[in-house]
Amino acid sequence: MAEVKINVDDCIGCGICVKKSPEGYEINDEMKAVVKNPNAPGIKEGADDCPTNAIEVIGDVAPAPAAAPAPTAAPSTKPGLAEYKGVMVFAEQRGGELVKVVIELLGRGRGLADELGVPLSATLMGQGVEGLAPQLIAAGADTVYIIQDPRLEKYNTSCYANAMIKLINSIKPEIVLYGATHIGRDLAPRIAKRLGTGLTADCTELTIEEGTNMLLQTRPAFGGNIMATIMCPDHRPQMSTVRPGIMKAIQPDASKQGEIVNFDAGLTDADVMTRIIEIIKERKQVANLEDAKVIVSGGRGVGGTDGFKTIQALADVLNAEIGGSRVAVEKGWISKDHQVGQTGKSVRPQLYIACGISGSIQHRAGMQNSDFIIAINKDPTAQIFTVADLGIVGDLFEIIPVLIEEFKAADFGQ
Ligand code: SF4
Repeated sequence: MAEVKINVDDCIGCGICVKKSPEGYEINDEMKAVVKNPNAPGIKEGADDCPTNAIEVIGDVAPAPAAAPAPTAAPSTKPGLAEYKGVMVFAEQRGGELVKVVIELLGRGRGLADELGVPLSATLMGQGVEGLAPQLIAAGADTVYIIQDPRLEKYNTSCYANAMIKLINSIKPEIVLYGATHIGRDLAPRIAKRLGTGLTADCTELTIEEGTNMLLQTRPAFGGNIMATIMCPDHRPQMSTVRPGIMKAIQPDASKQGEIVNFDAGLTDADVMTRIIEIIKERKQVANLEDAKVIVSGGRGVGGTDGFKTIQALADVLNAEIGGSRVAVEKGWISKDHQVGQTGKSVRPQLYIACGISGSIQHRAGMQNSDFIIAINKDPTAQIFTVADLGIVGDLFEIIPVLIEEFKAADFGQ
Protein backbone atom coordinates (compact mmCIF):
# COMPACT_ATOMS: atom_id res chain seq x y z
CA MET A 1 0.00 0.00 0.00
CA ALA A 2 1.40 3.37 -0.97
CA GLU A 3 1.03 6.67 0.83
CA VAL A 4 1.13 9.73 -1.40
CA LYS A 5 1.53 13.29 -0.14
CA ILE A 6 1.33 16.46 -2.22
CA ASN A 7 2.86 19.69 -1.01
CA VAL A 8 0.27 22.12 -2.38
CA ASP A 9 2.56 25.08 -1.85
CA ASP A 10 4.95 23.61 -4.41
CA CYS A 11 2.30 22.41 -6.89
CA ILE A 12 1.97 24.68 -9.93
CA GLY A 13 -0.99 22.75 -11.35
CA CYS A 14 0.81 21.72 -14.53
CA GLY A 15 -1.15 18.43 -14.73
CA ILE A 16 1.86 16.27 -15.59
CA CYS A 17 1.03 13.89 -12.72
CA VAL A 18 -2.57 13.54 -14.00
CA LYS A 19 -1.26 12.65 -17.44
CA LYS A 20 0.95 9.95 -15.93
CA SER A 21 -1.77 8.60 -13.66
CA PRO A 22 -5.31 9.74 -14.52
CA GLU A 23 -6.69 7.35 -11.91
CA GLY A 24 -4.25 8.46 -9.27
CA TYR A 25 -4.34 12.26 -9.45
CA GLU A 26 -6.68 15.06 -10.42
CA ILE A 27 -6.47 18.83 -10.55
CA ASN A 28 -8.95 20.64 -8.33
CA ASP A 29 -10.62 23.99 -8.83
CA GLU A 30 -7.66 25.73 -7.24
CA MET A 31 -5.38 24.28 -9.94
CA LYS A 32 -3.63 22.05 -7.42
CA ALA A 33 -3.07 18.31 -7.73
CA VAL A 34 -4.91 16.06 -5.28
CA VAL A 35 -4.58 12.31 -4.82
CA LYS A 36 -7.58 10.26 -5.95
CA ASN A 37 -6.10 6.82 -5.49
CA PRO A 38 -2.62 6.34 -4.02
CA ASN A 39 -2.45 2.79 -5.38
CA ALA A 40 -3.39 3.65 -8.96
CA PRO A 41 -1.02 2.69 -11.80
CA GLY A 42 1.51 5.39 -12.65
CA ILE A 43 1.34 7.15 -9.29
CA LYS A 44 5.13 6.93 -8.85
CA GLU A 45 5.87 8.06 -12.43
CA GLY A 46 3.63 11.10 -11.81
CA ALA A 47 5.71 11.92 -8.74
CA ASP A 48 9.01 11.34 -10.58
CA ASP A 49 8.00 13.65 -13.43
CA CYS A 50 6.62 16.43 -11.20
CA PRO A 51 8.68 19.49 -12.18
CA THR A 52 8.56 20.95 -8.67
CA ASN A 53 9.03 17.70 -6.68
CA ALA A 54 5.72 18.40 -4.97
CA ILE A 55 4.79 14.72 -4.62
CA GLU A 56 6.15 12.25 -2.10
CA VAL A 57 5.36 8.56 -2.53
CA ILE A 58 6.00 6.18 0.34
CA GLY A 59 5.64 2.41 -0.03
CA ASP A 60 5.00 -0.02 -2.89
CA VAL A 61 3.25 1.26 -5.97
CA ALA A 62 1.70 -0.10 -9.17
CA PRO A 63 3.64 0.36 -12.46
CA ALA A 64 2.63 3.03 -14.97
CA PRO A 65 -0.11 2.29 -17.52
CA ALA A 66 0.84 2.17 -21.19
CA ALA A 67 1.26 5.73 -22.45
CA ALA A 68 -1.72 7.12 -24.35
CA PRO A 69 -0.96 7.99 -27.97
CA ALA A 70 0.05 11.61 -28.36
CA PRO A 71 -2.62 13.82 -29.96
CA THR A 72 -2.05 14.45 -33.61
CA ALA A 73 -3.70 16.53 -36.27
CA ALA A 74 -2.99 16.75 -39.95
CA PRO A 75 -1.24 19.99 -40.85
CA SER A 76 -3.85 22.44 -42.11
CA THR A 77 -3.94 23.16 -45.83
CA LYS A 78 -5.79 26.45 -45.27
CA PRO A 79 -4.13 29.26 -47.21
CA GLY A 80 -2.55 32.15 -45.31
CA LEU A 81 -1.60 30.30 -42.12
CA ALA A 82 2.09 30.21 -43.04
CA GLU A 83 2.18 34.03 -42.92
CA TYR A 84 1.82 33.84 -39.13
CA LYS A 85 5.16 33.65 -37.34
CA GLY A 86 6.32 34.29 -33.80
CA VAL A 87 5.02 34.08 -30.25
CA MET A 88 3.45 37.13 -28.58
CA VAL A 89 2.64 37.76 -24.92
CA PHE A 90 0.10 40.35 -23.83
CA ALA A 91 2.08 42.31 -21.22
CA GLU A 92 -0.67 43.37 -18.85
CA GLN A 93 0.21 46.26 -16.59
CA ARG A 94 -1.81 47.89 -13.88
CA GLY A 95 -0.96 51.32 -12.60
CA GLY A 96 2.37 51.22 -14.41
CA GLU A 97 3.45 47.84 -12.97
CA LEU A 98 3.59 44.55 -14.84
CA VAL A 99 1.42 41.81 -13.40
CA LYS A 100 3.47 38.80 -12.32
CA VAL A 101 1.93 36.37 -14.81
CA VAL A 102 3.44 38.35 -17.70
CA ILE A 103 6.95 37.34 -16.62
CA GLU A 104 5.79 33.73 -16.27
CA LEU A 105 4.24 33.81 -19.76
CA LEU A 106 7.45 35.21 -21.21
CA GLY A 107 9.33 32.31 -19.61
CA ARG A 108 7.11 29.75 -21.33
CA GLY A 109 6.84 31.84 -24.50
CA ARG A 110 10.64 31.87 -24.71
CA GLY A 111 10.68 28.07 -24.68
CA LEU A 112 7.98 27.84 -27.37
CA ALA A 113 9.65 30.45 -29.57
CA ASP A 114 13.05 28.73 -29.32
CA GLU A 115 11.50 25.39 -30.21
CA LEU A 116 9.80 26.93 -33.24
CA GLY A 117 12.85 29.02 -34.16
CA VAL A 118 10.81 32.25 -34.14
CA PRO A 119 10.98 35.53 -32.18
CA LEU A 120 9.16 36.22 -28.92
CA SER A 121 7.44 39.57 -28.54
CA ALA A 122 5.54 41.33 -25.75
CA THR A 123 2.77 43.86 -26.23
CA LEU A 124 2.58 46.69 -23.75
CA MET A 125 -0.36 49.07 -23.73
CA GLY A 126 -1.10 52.14 -21.67
CA GLN A 127 0.17 55.67 -21.26
CA GLY A 128 3.70 56.41 -20.07
CA VAL A 129 4.54 52.71 -19.83
CA GLU A 130 7.70 52.63 -21.97
CA GLY A 131 9.83 52.28 -18.82
CA LEU A 132 8.54 48.70 -18.44
CA ALA A 133 10.04 47.51 -21.73
CA PRO A 134 13.51 46.60 -20.33
CA GLN A 135 11.85 44.27 -17.80
CA LEU A 136 10.08 42.47 -20.64
CA ILE A 137 13.31 42.10 -22.62
CA ALA A 138 15.18 40.84 -19.55
CA ALA A 139 12.37 38.30 -19.01
CA GLY A 140 12.81 36.87 -22.52
CA ALA A 141 11.17 39.12 -25.13
CA ASP A 142 13.08 39.85 -28.34
CA THR A 143 10.76 42.69 -29.28
CA VAL A 144 8.44 44.89 -27.24
CA TYR A 145 5.57 46.54 -29.08
CA ILE A 146 4.38 49.61 -27.23
CA ILE A 147 0.99 51.10 -27.91
CA GLN A 148 0.55 54.36 -26.02
CA ASP A 149 -2.58 56.43 -26.00
CA PRO A 150 -4.41 58.37 -23.27
CA ARG A 151 -7.41 56.14 -24.01
CA LEU A 152 -5.35 53.13 -22.88
CA GLU A 153 -4.25 54.60 -19.56
CA LYS A 154 -6.87 52.60 -17.67
CA TYR A 155 -8.07 49.24 -18.93
CA ASN A 156 -10.92 49.71 -21.34
CA THR A 157 -12.22 46.64 -23.14
CA SER A 158 -13.05 48.15 -26.52
CA CYS A 159 -9.87 50.25 -26.81
CA TYR A 160 -7.56 47.44 -25.68
CA ALA A 161 -9.27 44.92 -27.97
CA ASN A 162 -9.19 47.24 -30.98
CA ALA A 163 -5.53 48.13 -30.45
CA MET A 164 -4.50 44.49 -29.94
CA ILE A 165 -6.42 43.36 -33.03
CA LYS A 166 -4.72 46.02 -35.17
CA LEU A 167 -1.32 44.89 -33.91
CA ILE A 168 -2.05 41.18 -34.41
CA ASN A 169 -3.30 41.82 -37.95
CA SER A 170 -0.14 43.77 -38.67
CA ILE A 171 2.46 41.50 -37.00
CA LYS A 172 0.68 38.16 -37.54
CA PRO A 173 2.02 36.13 -34.60
CA GLU A 174 1.20 32.42 -34.73
CA ILE A 175 0.70 32.20 -30.95
CA VAL A 176 -0.65 34.82 -28.51
CA LEU A 177 -0.64 34.22 -24.75
CA TYR A 178 -2.60 36.10 -22.08
CA GLY A 179 -2.68 35.80 -18.30
CA ALA A 180 -5.97 34.42 -17.02
CA THR A 181 -6.46 37.55 -14.93
CA HIS A 182 -9.69 39.56 -14.84
CA ILE A 183 -8.36 41.66 -17.71
CA GLY A 184 -6.99 38.72 -19.72
CA ARG A 185 -10.25 36.82 -19.36
CA ASP A 186 -12.19 39.85 -20.54
CA LEU A 187 -9.89 40.73 -23.41
CA ALA A 188 -8.81 37.42 -24.97
CA PRO A 189 -12.29 36.04 -25.88
CA ARG A 190 -13.25 39.31 -27.59
CA ILE A 191 -10.09 39.27 -29.65
CA ALA A 192 -10.57 35.60 -30.52
CA LYS A 193 -14.16 36.22 -31.65
CA ARG A 194 -13.23 39.26 -33.73
CA LEU A 195 -10.27 37.47 -35.37
CA GLY A 196 -12.32 34.34 -35.95
CA THR A 197 -9.83 32.13 -34.16
CA GLY A 198 -9.88 29.80 -31.16
CA LEU A 199 -8.99 30.41 -27.54
CA THR A 200 -8.16 27.81 -24.90
CA ALA A 201 -8.72 29.14 -21.40
CA ASP A 202 -6.82 28.27 -18.23
CA CYS A 203 -4.07 26.21 -19.84
CA THR A 204 -1.69 24.40 -17.52
CA GLU A 205 0.73 23.19 -20.17
CA LEU A 206 1.76 24.54 -23.56
CA THR A 207 3.94 22.48 -25.87
CA ILE A 208 4.67 22.23 -29.58
CA GLU A 209 3.56 19.16 -31.52
CA GLU A 210 6.44 17.54 -33.33
CA GLY A 211 5.93 17.44 -37.07
CA THR A 212 3.11 19.99 -37.35
CA ASN A 213 4.56 22.70 -35.06
CA MET A 214 1.07 23.28 -33.73
CA LEU A 215 0.50 24.51 -30.21
CA LEU A 216 -0.77 21.79 -27.87
CA GLN A 217 -2.83 23.54 -25.21
CA THR A 218 -3.50 21.35 -22.19
CA ARG A 219 -6.02 22.17 -19.50
CA PRO A 220 -8.08 20.26 -16.92
CA ALA A 221 -11.50 19.16 -18.13
CA PHE A 222 -14.51 17.41 -16.60
CA GLY A 223 -13.85 18.72 -13.12
CA GLY A 224 -10.13 18.04 -13.30
CA ASN A 225 -10.60 14.30 -13.89
CA ILE A 226 -8.86 14.40 -17.25
CA MET A 227 -6.39 16.68 -18.94
CA ALA A 228 -7.63 17.77 -22.36
CA THR A 229 -5.15 18.76 -25.06
CA ILE A 230 -6.65 21.24 -27.50
CA MET A 231 -5.35 22.37 -30.88
CA CYS A 232 -6.37 25.12 -33.26
CA PRO A 233 -5.33 23.70 -36.64
CA ASP A 234 -7.20 25.95 -39.09
CA HIS A 235 -7.02 29.44 -37.65
CA ARG A 236 -4.34 31.85 -36.48
CA PRO A 237 -3.21 33.03 -34.10
CA GLN A 238 -3.47 30.14 -31.68
CA MET A 239 -4.47 31.80 -28.42
CA SER A 240 -4.37 30.69 -24.79
CA THR A 241 -4.94 32.13 -21.37
CA VAL A 242 -2.79 30.77 -18.54
CA ARG A 243 -3.51 31.08 -14.85
CA PRO A 244 -0.98 32.96 -12.75
CA GLY A 245 1.49 30.75 -10.91
CA ILE A 246 1.43 27.89 -13.44
CA MET A 247 4.32 28.66 -15.80
CA LYS A 248 7.88 29.19 -14.68
CA ALA A 249 9.58 32.50 -15.33
CA ILE A 250 13.17 32.37 -16.53
CA GLN A 251 15.97 34.06 -14.63
CA PRO A 252 15.88 37.73 -15.79
CA ASP A 253 18.89 38.76 -17.85
CA ALA A 254 19.42 42.52 -17.65
CA SER A 255 22.15 42.33 -20.32
CA LYS A 256 19.79 40.87 -22.93
CA GLN A 257 19.27 43.12 -25.96
CA GLY A 258 15.90 43.62 -27.57
CA GLU A 259 14.02 45.88 -29.93
CA ILE A 260 11.40 48.39 -28.82
CA VAL A 261 8.82 49.28 -31.46
CA ASN A 262 6.18 51.98 -31.00
CA PHE A 263 3.01 50.93 -32.77
CA ASP A 264 0.30 53.40 -33.68
CA ALA A 265 -3.04 51.69 -33.30
CA GLY A 266 -4.82 54.77 -34.62
CA LEU A 267 -7.35 54.86 -31.81
CA THR A 268 -9.99 57.58 -31.86
CA ASP A 269 -12.78 58.52 -29.48
CA ALA A 270 -15.01 56.23 -31.55
CA ASP A 271 -13.08 53.29 -30.05
CA VAL A 272 -14.17 54.25 -26.55
CA MET A 273 -17.39 52.41 -25.73
CA THR A 274 -17.25 52.98 -21.97
CA ARG A 275 -15.77 55.74 -19.84
CA ILE A 276 -14.22 55.01 -16.48
CA ILE A 277 -15.18 57.76 -14.10
CA GLU A 278 -13.40 56.46 -11.01
CA ILE A 279 -11.76 53.28 -9.76
CA ILE A 280 -12.52 52.52 -6.11
CA LYS A 281 -10.28 49.84 -4.67
CA GLU A 282 -11.83 47.57 -2.06
CA ARG A 283 -9.75 47.56 1.08
CA LYS A 284 -9.38 43.92 1.79
CA GLN A 285 -8.40 42.59 5.15
CA VAL A 286 -6.37 39.47 4.43
CA ALA A 287 -6.64 36.73 7.03
CA ASN A 288 -3.38 35.84 8.72
CA LEU A 289 -4.17 32.23 9.52
CA GLU A 290 -0.60 30.96 9.45
CA ASP A 291 0.40 33.04 12.50
CA ALA A 292 -2.89 32.74 14.42
CA LYS A 293 -2.84 31.20 17.89
CA VAL A 294 -6.57 30.49 17.79
CA ILE A 295 -8.71 29.80 14.72
CA VAL A 296 -12.47 29.35 14.62
CA SER A 297 -13.47 27.71 11.34
CA GLY A 298 -16.85 27.22 9.73
CA GLY A 299 -18.01 24.72 7.14
CA ARG A 300 -21.16 23.59 5.37
CA GLY A 301 -23.05 23.34 8.69
CA VAL A 302 -22.75 27.10 9.20
CA GLY A 303 -25.34 27.47 6.45
CA GLY A 304 -24.47 30.89 5.01
CA THR A 305 -23.01 34.34 5.58
CA ASP A 306 -25.45 34.94 8.45
CA GLY A 307 -24.18 31.77 10.10
CA PHE A 308 -20.64 33.11 9.87
CA LYS A 309 -21.73 36.00 12.13
CA THR A 310 -21.99 33.38 14.89
CA ILE A 311 -18.49 32.14 14.02
CA GLN A 312 -17.26 35.75 14.11
CA ALA A 313 -18.83 36.29 17.54
CA LEU A 314 -16.92 33.33 18.93
CA ALA A 315 -13.71 34.45 17.21
CA ASP A 316 -14.10 37.95 18.70
CA VAL A 317 -14.29 36.56 22.22
CA LEU A 318 -11.20 34.41 21.65
CA ASN A 319 -9.26 37.08 19.77
CA ALA A 320 -9.08 34.48 17.01
CA GLU A 321 -8.82 34.44 13.23
CA ILE A 322 -11.67 33.00 11.18
CA GLY A 323 -11.14 30.02 8.92
CA GLY A 324 -13.39 28.21 6.51
CA SER A 325 -13.68 24.92 4.71
CA ARG A 326 -13.51 24.69 0.94
CA VAL A 327 -17.31 24.39 0.77
CA ALA A 328 -17.78 27.61 2.74
CA VAL A 329 -15.38 29.41 0.41
CA GLU A 330 -16.92 27.99 -2.78
CA LYS A 331 -20.38 29.01 -1.63
CA GLY A 332 -19.09 32.55 -1.15
CA TRP A 333 -19.77 32.65 2.59
CA ILE A 334 -16.18 33.64 3.30
CA SER A 335 -13.29 34.77 1.13
CA LYS A 336 -10.59 32.49 -0.23
CA ASP A 337 -7.83 33.81 2.01
CA HIS A 338 -9.65 32.19 4.95
CA GLN A 339 -9.64 28.70 3.44
CA VAL A 340 -8.00 25.98 5.51
CA GLY A 341 -7.02 22.67 3.94
CA GLN A 342 -5.05 21.05 1.18
CA THR A 343 -6.20 23.64 -1.33
CA GLY A 344 -6.06 26.50 1.15
CA LYS A 345 -3.74 27.23 4.03
CA SER A 346 -2.03 24.76 6.33
CA VAL A 347 -2.34 25.95 9.93
CA ARG A 348 -1.16 24.78 13.33
CA PRO A 349 -2.63 27.11 15.99
CA GLN A 350 -2.74 26.35 19.69
CA LEU A 351 -6.52 25.99 19.43
CA TYR A 352 -8.59 25.14 16.34
CA ILE A 353 -12.37 25.08 16.65
CA ALA A 354 -14.09 23.41 13.69
CA CYS A 355 -17.76 24.34 13.53
CA GLY A 356 -20.05 22.46 11.15
CA ILE A 357 -17.10 21.01 9.23
CA SER A 358 -17.42 17.37 8.21
CA GLY A 359 -13.64 16.97 8.03
CA SER A 360 -12.75 15.77 4.55
CA ILE A 361 -9.22 14.47 4.15
CA GLN A 362 -8.33 17.70 2.32
CA HIS A 363 -9.51 19.84 5.25
CA ARG A 364 -7.87 17.65 7.87
CA ALA A 365 -4.58 17.81 5.97
CA GLY A 366 -4.51 21.56 6.59
CA MET A 367 -5.37 21.64 10.31
CA GLN A 368 -4.68 18.30 11.98
CA ASN A 369 -1.33 19.52 13.34
CA SER A 370 -3.07 22.09 15.55
CA ASP A 371 -2.16 21.71 19.25
CA PHE A 372 -5.76 21.26 20.41
CA ILE A 373 -8.79 20.70 18.23
CA ILE A 374 -12.41 21.17 19.24
CA ALA A 375 -14.99 19.91 16.74
CA ILE A 376 -18.67 20.81 16.83
CA ASN A 377 -20.92 18.83 14.50
CA LYS A 378 -24.44 17.43 14.51
CA ASP A 379 -23.24 14.21 12.88
CA PRO A 380 -21.49 11.92 15.39
CA THR A 381 -19.86 10.02 12.49
CA ALA A 382 -18.29 13.17 10.97
CA GLN A 383 -14.62 12.58 10.02
CA ILE A 384 -13.56 15.74 11.86
CA PHE A 385 -14.00 13.85 15.16
CA THR A 386 -11.16 11.49 14.17
CA VAL A 387 -8.64 14.32 14.67
CA ALA A 388 -10.45 16.21 17.46
CA ASP A 389 -9.16 16.33 21.03
CA LEU A 390 -12.64 17.36 22.15
CA GLY A 391 -15.77 16.57 20.17
CA ILE A 392 -19.15 18.17 20.76
CA VAL A 393 -22.09 16.53 18.99
CA GLY A 394 -24.87 19.02 18.54
CA ASP A 395 -26.20 22.15 16.84
CA LEU A 396 -23.42 24.75 16.57
CA PHE A 397 -25.97 27.57 16.87
CA GLU A 398 -26.95 26.27 20.33
CA ILE A 399 -23.44 25.36 21.43
CA ILE A 400 -21.49 28.45 20.32
CA PRO A 401 -23.53 30.96 22.40
CA VAL A 402 -22.88 28.79 25.47
CA LEU A 403 -19.15 28.65 24.64
CA ILE A 404 -19.07 32.42 24.19
CA GLU A 405 -20.50 32.94 27.67
CA GLU A 406 -18.07 30.44 29.19
CA PHE A 407 -15.03 31.91 27.42
CA LYS A 408 -16.10 35.42 28.43
CA ALA A 409 -16.45 34.34 32.05
CA ALA A 410 -12.96 32.77 31.92
CA ASP A 411 -11.47 35.86 30.21
CA PHE A 412 -10.07 33.53 27.56
CA GLY A 413 -8.40 35.34 24.69
CA GLN A 414 -7.88 38.58 26.64
FE1 SF4 B 1 1.19 17.39 -10.38
FE2 SF4 B 1 2.32 19.43 -11.73
FE3 SF4 B 1 1.39 19.79 -9.23
FE4 SF4 B 1 3.60 18.36 -9.65
S1 SF4 B 1 3.34 20.53 -10.05
S2 SF4 B 1 1.88 17.85 -8.28
S3 SF4 B 1 3.09 17.34 -11.59
S4 SF4 B 1 0.18 19.25 -11.03
